[in-house]
Amino acid sequence: MSQAKSYAAFSADKPLAPFTFERRAPRADDVAIEILYCGVCHSDLHFARNDWGMSQYPVVPGHEIVGRVTAVGSDVSRFQVGDLVGVGCMVDSCRTCSACQEGVEQYCLEGFTMTYGSPDRQDGTLTQGGYSDAIVVSEHFVLKMPDGIDLASAAPILCAGITTYSPLKHFGVGKGHKIGVIGMGGLGHMGVKLAKALGAEVTVFTRSDAKVEEAKRNGADHVVVSSDPAQMEAVAETYDFMLDTVPVQHDLNPYLAALKYNGTHIIVGLLEPIEPTIEAFNLVFKRRVVAGSLIGGIAETEELLKLCAEQNITCDIEMLDINDINEGFERMEKGDVRYRFVIDMATLKNTPA
Ligand SMILES: [Zn+2]
Ligand SMILES: [Zn+2]
Repeated sequence: MSQAKSYAAFSADKPLAPFTFERRAPRADDVAIEILYCGVCHSDLHFARNDWGMSQYPVVPGHEIVGRVTAVGSDVSRFQVGDLVGVGCMVDSCRTCSACQEGVEQYCLEGFTMTYGSPDRQDGTLTQGGYSDAIVVSEHFVLKMPDGIDLASAAPILCAGITTYSPLKHFGVGKGHKIGVIGMGGLGHMGVKLAKALGAEVTVFTRSDAKVEEAKRNGADHVVVSSDPAQMEAVAETYDFMLDTVPVQHDLNPYLAALKYNGTHIIVGLLEPIEPTIEAFNLVFKRRVVAGSLIGGIAETEELLKLCAEQNITCDIEMLDINDINEGFERMEKGDVRYRFVIDMATLKNTPA
């Protein structure tokens, strides 16, 4: 075992604070990783504050982890000491069910092991995430970082990137398709870049005029201000897909009306009940589908990292000193970050003991 430094939440209503804890010694199939960067995801904040009622404390958040291999177990074949690697939202699954066999471990029939806040499948200890200087993970859940990729801006690909890429691939979004991306936050801006990379024509839907230029800078072909009924009316029955990244309750009906017949509305940002209710009319009369999608599998995430390296697709980030993490959370809550904070883990060395 070894001592890891970190920042952890100790209760739902207190700021994160320094925390030292033990990481397990590598098992035969484990890879030990020195963490260089970790993205800050909205889920981290929800978990720290127990918004989903499942947090156990102390919890070290962070599931957009990039680092360097420092040790490998005796059975590890995919990695060597010194390799640059990533760890996303999952660190284990049952590995034998149909979902795991198909490479969609995020839908493991037994439930996947989250990078933080899940009991380890072997010893039952709670997993702890990437706001720390080291992590130990089974090689099956460790991702190869392709040569030449910018490590810091690649971190959010491991959650925000794959969350948008996986449904685009699954539903076959590509050339000749028109897609609407709803929301321009961490997920939305990656959705725009990846849908463009797959060849689709992309329209961003935003509530405010203020974001029109910003959406175009991120590569959107068109922008619709969704709070303007005339603009929504003008795009009725236009799109093959909607990628809905909005994390709070919102009316789906105007967006369903903007889908062509056979169109698909894909939810990736919302975990609450859909309100107001969906008008069945909007589905039945046009054979439209409302779908959901959760992160992506390990092989698919490696595929995405390669695509991003080849096409130079990066997440727009702001580097964060880990000692400013509480301020970072506050700014993220206000939407005051373009588009993701990434913690430079070297700053953990300056943390008061
Ligand atoms: Zn996340
Ligand atoms: Zn499984």
